[in-house]
Amino acid sequence: MHCFANYKYNYFSYNCYLCAEYAMDNINQYNMKLIGRMITIAGMAAALVSCSDKAAKEDGFRYLMDEFADLKIMRYQVPGWDGLTLQQKEYVYHLAEAAKYGRDIIWMQNCRHNLDVRKTIENILENYEGDRTSEDWKMFETYAKRVFFSNGIHHHYAEDKFFPECSQEYFQSLMTAVGDEAKCAELLPVIFDPAVYPARKLMGGKDIVAESAVNFYEGVTRAEVEAFYAAMVDPSDKTPVSYGLNSRVVKGADGIVREEVYKVGGLYGPALEKICAELEKAAAVAEDETQKSYIADLVAYYRSGDLKLWDEYNIKWVKDTLGTVDFVNGFVEDYNDPLGRKAAWEGLVNFKDTEASRRTELISENAQWFEDNSPVDDRFKKSEVKGVSAKVINVATLAGDCYPAAPIGINLPNADWIRREHGSKSVTIANLTSAYNMAAQESPKNLLSEFAWSEEEIAAEKKYGALTNDLHTDLHECLGHGSGQLLPETSPNALGEYSSALEETRADLFGLYYLADPKLVELGILPDMEAYKAQYSSYIRNGIFTQFNRVEFGKKNMEAHMQNRKLIADWCYEKGLADNVIEKKVRDGKTYFVVNDFEALRGLFGDLLAEVQRIKSEGDYEAGKALVENYAVNIDPELHKEVLERYASLGLKPYGGFLNPEIVPVEKNGEVVDYEVVYSDSYLGQMLEYGKKYATL
Ligand code: ZN
Repeated sequence: MHCFANYKYNYFSYNCYLCAEYAMDNINQYNMKLIGRMITIAGMAAALVSCSDKAAKEDGFRYLMDEFADLKIMRYQVPGWDGLTLQQKEYVYHLAEAAKYGRDIIWMQNCRHNLDVRKTIENILENYEGDRTSEDWKMFETYAKRVFFSNGIHHHYAEDKFFPECSQEYFQSLMTAVGDEAKCAELLPVIFDPAVYPARKLMGGKDIVAESAVNFYEGVTRAEVEAFYAAMVDPSDKTPVSYGLNSRVVKGADGIVREEVYKVGGLYGPALEKICAELEKAAAVAEDETQKSYIADLVAYYRSGDLKLWDEYNIKWVKDTLGTVDFVNGFVEDYNDPLGRKAAWEGLVNFKDTEASRRTELISENAQWFEDNSPVDDRFKKSEVKGVSAKVINVATLAGDCYPAAPIGINLPNADWIRREHGSKSVTIANLTSAYNMAAQESPKNLLSEFAWSEEEIAAEKKYGALTNDLHTDLHECLGHGSGQLLPETSPNALGEYSSALEETRADLFGLYYLADPKLVELGILPDMEAYKAQYSSYIRNGIFTQFNRVEFGKKNMEAHMQNRKLIADWCYEKGLADNVIEKKVRDGKTYFVVNDFEALRGLFGDLLAEVQRIKSEGDYEAGKALVENYAVNIDPELHKEVLERYASLGLKPYGGFLNPEIVPVEKNGEVVDYEVVYSDSYLGQMLEYGKKYATL
């Protein structure tokens, strides 16, 4: 299942790679989602992309393209494209076309009138010859942008219907002006009437199946659907297909409940036919036989609707870890279905970020050096330690339910028994995470300018922030959690309810301590000995202060990762008070936390790491409890109030989505000699173009 990082806050959430706990990182500012049954990683990764970020900045690449309602539209770059072979580029190209041809399916799935609404909007945008400067027009245009963003008339995240701010009369006049007056009677209530299709997925209603606008069911009740599948499913089957995943359930005039299967020749057949044609072209230029083989399964599944073939495809796909190019194409996530059975169509094409993946490998290869040289007591160190390296990818195309609101991590397949018996693939998407970062800095009002004390601090953050933040996450995940050992007599459960916060503290400290180590410069991971300071400043600023914009006023700080950050920042503030290591400053009534002595701060991180490792290794519950209770839980009400007010004043958009770059064949003498990535610069332009080019239903 995909998971939106479920926080309407300024920082995005990620799940700790090894500890499998929900976390929020300070990398990013908007809600994001992940694909996959587990809420995994995401903060891991963006890794070396910051080098390309920097280059991009210098090229004047613009990330933030548009902002409206509660949304913002960004672009992402495709680093590494030129490193692909012509054949790999051709493979990506056809996979991308296959992805984009599924666009109309998700529109139809979200609500049966969505495609009609979209076509009317497209008609107006393309053909209306009246005044396009009026307030009414602007309100119409904002509505159009919102519909495109949500792939329909319901909010992509909240699932409730949103409305145009212009009047129904005005909307009707637009429809009439472009020759769509015949559709008014049907569509205007769909667009304007709050009682018609109020929510895509209605939870807690009388009948969540009958009342939800989502188009997975027609004319059936929840009880009928449940009975239908109860009769179909064999509970003793240890390897069941995902019953109902690729169909709509309807009751005909004969009163019989049946499935309309998504397949070539069935429901959404014309779209699936196009997808299959492109997949077959892709298979012809795939990297290896494994890819050819699972694409053949996928095509056979789309042609037959046979869910056994979907499972076979997934089993082969999950084992393909050698290919550079990879993709998701199918009815995958069941979140949009009130019964959690039917999957929304999505597509995504990506390839491995070799440079960034190389960095996590490098860290991992040197795991023993880091362990041996850590400031903890030798009794608590592992004599043999293995690092974990993470695969990092960049996307080249987003489609279906992944477009424009996109995932930042993938963990698939979803079928439990396949995960159990064959494993799952888990990756983070570096170029999207990076685009979120870069776009955030392009907003005139942003967190950095609001909460950083000086221009120097801002400059350091812009220069090194993304790189060191990602590196900190890598160190936390690839080494931190795996470091250290318990004394033989210590119970792994000795720290009880404080164990999560303390474990995160330990992993974060391991990363913070080593960020300032010359070893990272020596390994070529950091450019110089100044870089780490950006992360030290932002870590303290966030841990001691800005992260509390996510906590309701008056509440305690309860989430393990937020606790760990507060614990570290507050402890270091207190211990460094005499030497003014971290200083609390006030200017124009606003509070700032400023690091004055970076080396001393590193020393404090080392001291606390040694102590937290001791607590863990010895299972010292009382000492662990004291650290968490004294430093991590209680938020200063004055600071809390201030951060909430200052955050609100920024007016940040909570949700983001992306324009795709276009992959364009370059011909020479009638032959394709290359594929170029061309960055689109118009949100509505791309939507209208897709509306024409990939219209199938
Ligand atoms: Zn962690």
